[in-house]
Amino acid sequence: MTLLYQSTRDAANKATASQAILQGLATDGGLFTPTELPKVNLDFDRLKDASYQEVAKLILSVFLDDFTSDELDHCIASAYDQKFDTATIAPLVKISDNQFNLELFHGSTIAFKDMALSILPHLMTTAAKKHGLTKKIVILTATSGDTGKAAMAGFADVPGTEIIVFYPRDGVSKVQELQMTTQTGSNTHVVAIKGNFDDAQTKVKEMFNDQLLRKTLAEDGYQFSSANSMNIGRLVPQIVYYVYAYAQLVKSGEVAVGDKVNFAVPTGNFGNILAAYYAKQIGLPVGKLICASNENKVLTDFFKTGVYDKKRTFKVTSSPSMDILVSSNLERLIFHLVGNSAEATLSLMTALTEQGQYTLKDFDREIADLFAADFATEAETKVEIKRVYDAALYVEDPHTAVASAVHQKYMAETNDTTKTVIVSTASPYKFPVVAVEAITGEENLEDFAALAQLHDLSKVAYPAAVAGLETARVLHDIVVPVSDMQDAVERYLNIAGD
Ligand SMILES: *Cc1c(COP(=O)(O)O)cnc(C)c1O
Repeated sequence: MTLLYQSTRDAANKATASQAILQGLATDGGLFTPTELPKVNLDFDRLKDASYQEVAKLILSVFLDDFTSDELDHCIASAYDQKFDTATIAPLVKISDNQFNLELFHGSTIAFKDMALSILPHLMTTAAKKHGLTKKIVILTATSGDTGKAAMAGFADVPGTEIIVFYPRDGVSKVQELQMTTQTGSNTHVVAIKGNFDDAQTKVKEMFNDQLLRKTLAEDGYQFSSANSMNIGRLVPQIVYYVYAYAQLVKSGEVAVGDKVNFAVPTGNFGNILAAYYAKQIGLPVGKLICASNENKVLTDFFKTGVYDKKRTFKVTSSPSMDILVSSNLERLIFHLVGNSAEATLSLMTALTEQGQYTLKDFDREIADLFAADFATEAETKVEIKRVYDAALYVEDPHTAVASAVHQKYMAETNDTTKTVIVSTASPYKFPVVAVEAITGEENLEDFAALAQLHDLSKVAYPAAVAGLETARVLHDIVVPVSDMQDAVERYLNIAGD
């Protein structure tokens, strides 16, 4: 039987995997979510010797079950290839007896978004072929810094697609911004907005749900889809590395098959940690899922109190990819917490839009208890970068350091010393100033000077993603207010707007 994904806001809105990938978001504003999880045989005595691609095949074939085996082989082989600078794709590095950093930053843009965005374009174009779709796919994406670049790297010059990326002008690092504004490819468009990530994300969702705009697009031969983490074509590939990390721990003798492992995840839109939740639900031996936030600690407060309250000051931090107050993928967990009820989820999400908050009253305690949550301040994040460097001569990026700091707090509070995988979401080369300042105590470093210093400190080879960035030509330099985002879309697609 084919697995169906249901909208979190309408029980009648269901799609197969390939349909859900093409649509991105459900038209009712909900997220396509599995109501029943597939059965998977996680045989770690065998998986410990499997390649990343083999683990990917196992997971993708059960979750994306309306793709043929050949189609998945093609997508996997096209995604996880020499774009990654290591054949292991996602190496696990031992930092201490109970800390293992899972490096998800070996793809072309040196952040974890590559893990899913290097395969999404292939899943999407394969799905389009399957359904005989003739319209051009328009990928509309709001980014807090990393998704935008990773999506463009994935979609650049892919026939039948256009990609438009919006990023907050004052909310990304210099390296992140240059990575985006120097993007090549005739189908790529980058726009800076005068607003924060939540503004960009809200407006993109609005455009998605604008029926009139959809109609105009359709008449001109276009159809929207999303490369944001709400697309299940991003969520499912992220389950793979949790299984793969566990297999590596078994292989190196760090755990015996069946031993529980904790995962600490630096969280923004809740996509990465949600994938860990699904990994647990299909049988991965997980103890706690530690949800780590920066000073935008809306998720910490939610897990501690049951109240989700976005009415607070948005802070720009040194871990910008987690500067988020409306955590989109949390909606999927909420849906599960309220017993997969679309009705209950819709009413909570309506409260969030209308009152800026909601309170979760009746919910599944067993699911909630899987999660631990805390946050790290800017100062704590820097201290953690230094602690790890001094202890292991290893440089964490600020996002990873948030997770690592929260793990330290968690251990101090609970005495739970279960082996823990710190999900390491970016290379320190993407945030060189913060990393170097934390370690050396220097201040006001300049980005490219910090890159060179980081090389000396970490002894890690300069990634291709930053080499040449300083001299690359800026190809995109448009800045618009949030209210003009739709105009920009209409202009790029050459369609008549109002
Ligand atoms: C996107 C991102 C995150 C947050 O991941 P979510 O899936 O949105 O929770 C954390 N760290 C980095 C470096 C990212 O790019």
